[in-house]
Amino acid sequence: MYAGPGVKTSADFPIPDKMKAWVLGNPGELKLTEKPVPVPKRAEVLVRIDAVAICATDLEIIDHGSPALIQGGKPFNKNFTPGHEYMGTVVALGPGVDEYRIGQRITVEIHAGCGQCKRCREGMYTSCHNYGLNYGDVDKGHRANGFTTDGGFCEYQINNINTLVAIPDAMSDEEATLVVTAGTAMYGLTELGGLVAGESVVVTGPGPIGLLGVAVAKALGAEPVILTGTRDNRLRIGLELGADAVVNVRNENAVDAVKRLNGGKGVDYVVECSGAPNAVTEAVHMVNRGGKVCLAAFPHAETPVDVAHIVRNNIYLYGIRGEGRSATHRAEAFMSQKRFDATKIHTHTFALDDLPTAIRYAKDRVDDAIKVVVKAKGVAAHRVAAE
Ligand SMILES: [Zn+2]
Ligand SMILES: [Zn+2]
Repeated sequence: MYAGPGVKTSADFPIPDKMKAWVLGNPGELKLTEKPVPVPKRAEVLVRIDAVAICATDLEIIDHGSPALIQGGKPFNKNFTPGHEYMGTVVALGPGVDEYRIGQRITVEIHAGCGQCKRCREGMYTSCHNYGLNYGDVDKGHRANGFTTDGGFCEYQINNINTLVAIPDAMSDEEATLVVTAGTAMYGLTELGGLVAGESVVVTGPGPIGLLGVAVAKALGAEPVILTGTRDNRLRIGLELGADAVVNVRNENAVDAVKRLNGGKGVDYVVECSGAPNAVTEAVHMVNRGGKVCLAAFPHAETPVDVAHIVRNNIYLYGIRGEGRSATHRAEAFMSQKRFDATKIHTHTFALDDLPTAIRYAKDRVDDAIKVVVKAKGVAAHRVAAE
């Protein structure tokens, strides 16, 4: 029977001893297996995973390993379960946990951090100095589910209470998986200063973070918000999420187009979400003097950047990692207040057993896939039985 010292459970949410879990074998190889259902410790809960979205970073981890770090190295053949953009229901409470209740629907952010380093103390837990140190004699208790600890491509996972975000009943499972993506966009705008009402913003790259970056910038009152990219179908979704203008960079020089759309001037902020090799130099030419650029994506190779232009024009560059400073809570607040409809980027849903198909859709953008969500089978029946 499922139990642990000081752990609270409820007959309404029976927990099995074992669960289905996908694990990473060699690069690119996922295997469906069985694992024991993990037991929460102090400040942790057990989450029944009801839905999990696939992220480009999952594809990167599954094929190349980084940025996952398991026991100090690459995550292959270590019984590691990837997946990090999940939501679900709290079904067991670790000792002393009274911040959440059993049966409560939540979504998660990724990084719990170690809670004791300089950056964690500053709220920059995604830049924890003890990243991945959670094993053997270097155990600092760092958790980033799907990166340095087991993630969401399974039926249950344990989460630190600091990584939980409560969601309203009206928010669907699929929408809730998108909170962390909107949270990353919110973190980028937070690091740029946050007070973007009435300021001009360009978002480059209409991937999930870029599209929700448009939505968050508009919700924060930015104007105009201009989205650049190469795919008309995604640029169209950007317009539906509030972009004041879109630019297909296949048809027009991006920097010229931005200046044309902003009265001949550069903009105040650029949120770079494309990772294109020339993106940084283009971004610094899109901002006005003293403007700020947030880099939320990166190319794999080192690329030349126009440093002289950055220095002469007092331009600020920010790199962001993930979703720090509780940005997911602010993103969730916009979503639950229906300030934008994040579900416009959700395109496909598959069963957990069909994860390899779901990954193929996300990777090859089959049928114009943007966000692909995987749901554990039997979730609906489970919920009815509990009521
Ligand atoms: Zn992600
Ligand atoms: Zn830390």
